[in-house]
Amino acid sequence: MPKRDYYEVLGVAREASADELKKAYRDLARRYHPDKNPDDAEAEERFKEASEAFRVLSDPEQRKRYDRFGHQAFERGGGSPGFDPSDFSGGFGEILEGIFGDVLGRARGRKRSGRDLQIDVSVTFEEAALGADKTVTVTRPQPCDRCSGTGGEPGTTVRSCPTCDGRGEVRFQRGIFAATRTCATCGGTGKKPEVPCTKCRATGLVEGQHELSVRIPAGVEDGAVRSVRGAGEVGPGGPGDLHLTIRVEPHPLFERRGVDVLCTVPITFPQAVLGATLDIPTLEGKVQMKLPPGTQSGKSFRLRGKGITAYGGVGKGDQLVTVMVEVPEKITREQRRLIEALAAEMGTDTLPQRASFLDKLKGLFD
Ligand SMILES: [Zn+2]
Ligand SMILES: [Zn+2]
Repeated sequence: MPKRDYYEVLGVAREASADELKKAYRDLARRYHPDKNPDDAEAEERFKEASEAFRVLSDPEQRKRYDRFGHQAFERGGGSPGFDPSDFSGGFGEILEGIFGDVLGRARGRKRSGRDLQIDVSVTFEEAALGADKTVTVTRPQPCDRCSGTGGEPGTTVRSCPTCDGRGEVRFQRGIFAATRTCATCGGTGKKPEVPCTKCRATGLVEGQHELSVRIPAGVEDGAVRSVRGAGEVGPGGPGDLHLTIRVEPHPLFERRGVDVLCTVPITFPQAVLGATLDIPTLEGKVQMKLPPGTQSGKSFRLRGKGITAYGGVGKGDQLVTVMVEVPEKITREQRRLIEALAAEMGTDTLPQRASFLDKLKGLFD
């Protein structure tokens, strides 16, 4: 597989500043960190890729070389810019943690937080356009109610884990970095119960349902992610975050284009000719729209301020109403008689576009 461009990997422009690089990398590291995606080979791959890209681009000298020669800059002479691949196995994430401190949402030396959780939230077109409060149900591990999270049967002794001294993680040296990893003896709880709790099997955690009220901001788009700090999995060092991916359901009549709402309204031939007052559905209910006499099929009208609130709350879009003249596919005998009479009565003098078309057609074959 060809190697991806480092800027593309980090999702930044070629002229990105050091701060932008750092921020982009931080976001990716947070998302794909192996600790948060156990046994997920793809996440691990992404994590390595991002780390290598950041490693090169954050070094001004290496970045200059990369900008000039691309990946080739580091191929000759085996001068790998990033980590040696063998470094990636095992404690790579922990090394990074050493470099960036609490970048990964965890303060140095403290017990590890629960994992971040990700769920999809379905909202209607209107809710996305106007904003709404939604109640979502999150299934997440929470402290066991039988043992109050200690992991020991009620009434029995729970001691500190001797391996990690109750910290939940152990420090070790890797190259020049001091790193930490979850204590294997206690699984990160820092406790060693005499008799394991029968409900949570000493983990101190059980799956539970948790209801949460979430504000859906007006103007939010399909696929947007909202994060709620501290609403993720509960760990010995505190909770992780909850990431909500917003899924906007399609609307039967409306379509979205930026902050504008598009809708198509079928009208009759008499309405197009004579003009009419139409009931138009909008996000905020029905409004009346005047159709002028002589409206062509396909013409669009703009209803100002009836669109979607711009994300962030500044300004509002419009609704664009496109009218389509609907031609009847079946007619009664009486309707046929009337339309034939109309056709006979209707010369080209009432149809300037048709008259001009016939004129040009004539010129073409003379
Ligand atoms: Zn328990
Ligand atoms: Zn331990």
